[in-house]
Amino acid sequence: MKRWNVKLLLLCCAMLVLGSSLNAQKPKQMKKNYECDIIKLHNGNNLAMFFFGHASFMFDYESRIIYVDPVSEYMDFSALPPADVILVTHEHFDHCDSEAIKKLKKEDTRIIVNKASKDILNDGYVLNYGDVWAYEDFSVEATQAYNTTPGREKFHPKGRDNGYFLHFDEFTVYISGDTEIVENAEEYKGCDLLFLAVNQPYTMTIEQAQHFVHLIQPKIFYPYHTTDTDMERLKSVMEKENCELRIRQMK
Ligand code: ZN
Ligand code: ZN
Repeated sequence: MKRWNVKLLLLCCAMLVLGSSLNAQKPKQMKKNYECDIIKLHNGNNLAMFFFGHASFMFDYESRIIYVDPVSEYMDFSALPPADVILVTHEHFDHCDSEAIKKLKKEDTRIIVNKASKDILNDGYVLNYGDVWAYEDFSVEATQAYNTTPGREKFHPKGRDNGYFLHFDEFTVYISGDTEIVENAEEYKGCDLLFLAVNQPYTMTIEQAQHFVHLIQPKIFYPYHTTDTDMERLKSVMEKENCELRIRQMK
């Protein structure tokens, strides 16, 4: 069943890459379009990424399925393959959704959460800042995520929420979660893919995002959780940086 679903996903993915003229052939159970990128890693493996919206996305790493903050508002998860791993950054409704998790969960799904999400879901394995959890040939590491601007700490207070690193051998993906620039951000330097939440007042401003990208020098920057952010301005500001900006449907 899992293999079949993965094949189906890769088929849809190829169709999206080929263009919308093939959309008529899209399987009926796929209720919504989404974009997909595939990256070949240093180790020869493929990392496919599926963008559902806001903070919800999925990785397919050689048939291991990893969801990040799956929320029903952005996707019909009943049409997607069950999860091997689900990462939940924090307990806010646009990140933590028990209904979506119910649809994706199978017997051996590992759900990685912060403590407050575990309290809501009554499920999951808590990773605290700095904790690393290894799964087969990749690992997940929890990072900090919090607001630093005076008056905004209440949204994401320090010590509560998570971001995550995904380590695929030497290839590193950093998923920021809802955060501004944390105190040790320069230690994140050299990550390959950066998923950075860009919208105020809850996460980063465009200027903070540029500063952060400048600091850590990722190869590819995917802004997400962008809501009302002026994407044209973000594009123009990012032209100064030596980094590929990829904008997907992650409003
Ligand atoms: Zn939040
Ligand atoms: Zn959020």
